[in-house]
Amino acid sequence: MRSIDTLGELDGRRVLLRADLNVPLEDGRIADDGRIRATLPVLTTLVEGGARTIVCAHLGRPKGAPRPDLSLGPVAQRLGELLGRDVPLADDVAGASASKHADALADGDVLLLENVRFEAAETSKDDAERSAFAERLAALAECYVGDAFGAVHRKHASVYDVPLRLPHAAGPLVLREVEVLSRLTHDPERPYVVVLGGSKVSDKLAVIEQLLPRVDQLLVGGGMCFTFLKAQGHDVGDSLLEDDQVEACGRFLDSGRVVLPSDVVVATDLSADATTRVVAADAIPADFKGLDIGPDSVDRFATALRDAAVVFWNGPMGVFELAPFAAGTRGVAQAIAALPGALTVVGGGDSAAAIRALGIDESAFTHISTGGGASLEYLEGKTLPGLEALES
Ligand code: ADP
Ligand code: MG
Repeated sequence: MRSIDTLGELDGRRVLLRADLNVPLEDGRIADDGRIRATLPVLTTLVEGGARTIVCAHLGRPKGAPRPDLSLGPVAQRLGELLGRDVPLADDVAGASASKHADALADGDVLLLENVRFEAAETSKDDAERSAFAERLAALAECYVGDAFGAVHRKHASVYDVPLRLPHAAGPLVLREVEVLSRLTHDPERPYVVVLGGSKVSDKLAVIEQLLPRVDQLLVGGGMCFTFLKAQGHDVGDSLLEDDQVEACGRFLDSGRVVLPSDVVVATDLSADATTRVVAADAIPADFKGLDIGPDSVDRFATALRDAAVVFWNGPMGVFELAPFAAGTRGVAQAIAALPGALTVVGGGDSAAAIRALGIDESAFTHISTGGGASLEYLEGKTLPGLEALES
């Protein structure tokens, strides 16, 4: 993959930047601007180089039609505040408004196109449909920079088809992601410990399959641990359970490298003022939901992590969004953050959000991936269309 400097002189050139600005919104406000801030380095490079930057990004899943609540308006505003310059938003993705705004750009200006997923062709499985849209998008610019690592696992027009049509380069986020993730897949140092959590085993089945033979220990928390506990023959009460994954979890347990929680924080309801109890993981009472790993589990996980040379963490240990169930995620995050000299990588949108929400120092980790699904698919060993296009 080529970096931006291989594109040559940027001064006065129109550059289409595919960025990942898919931020969480709450009541129309940006709840976490981490992804916008992560895009500042590439934008600064382009602005300082005198490029006329046209930013293309998606927000949520509008399913191919405009939806006012998924407009990139709030993102344009926040981006403008962070960059210290006006960032206009086109009314469309590659229509009359986009062209008009693009024509009006001066050197060093930045324009944001409206949510690219307002166009059904962006995500179409039909190559011809995507191509026709990619032609219109590519016509706005003279070259392309791909820095949306969070979208490179999608064969979407703005990620895959556009870079095939323009001189292209990978942005710093994509280059950094690939550099770090490749260190996890190519001969990692040992001990190599992976921590997985989050809600579903089924989401992470492929990555467990791929990583388990390569790791020394796999620590499992979050909603997925209950399917593992069930596979050990324990009742899990009213906790999250994927019956169709019990057998797979049993096979993973046979590896002898899976470490499960010893205790669990339970409650009868999922609320911020729930009455909680800590129970042994093999004695979850009926009608109770396991919503976090308990303090003894945090100690065990921290002990398993103590000597690790390489750590990959994906998925919160509990429902960290609610204070009564945040301690497990906080404890494990702190244990990883405290490892001196280890390569520590966090993947997953909710895990990265948890680190910020719990006030843990982001710089204590070697790398926090901006791409949830993309980082997992990279670790699964899949070919990612967006990277394939940037490598061509
Ligand atoms: P990531 O985005 O980091 O890959 P996931 O999307 O897989 O993580 O999972 C995140 C979600 O998992 C969070 O919203 C969290 O509330 C939920 N979760 C964690 N533990 C539990 C649990 N015990 N029961 C239900 N949901 C859980
Ligand atoms: Mg998630």
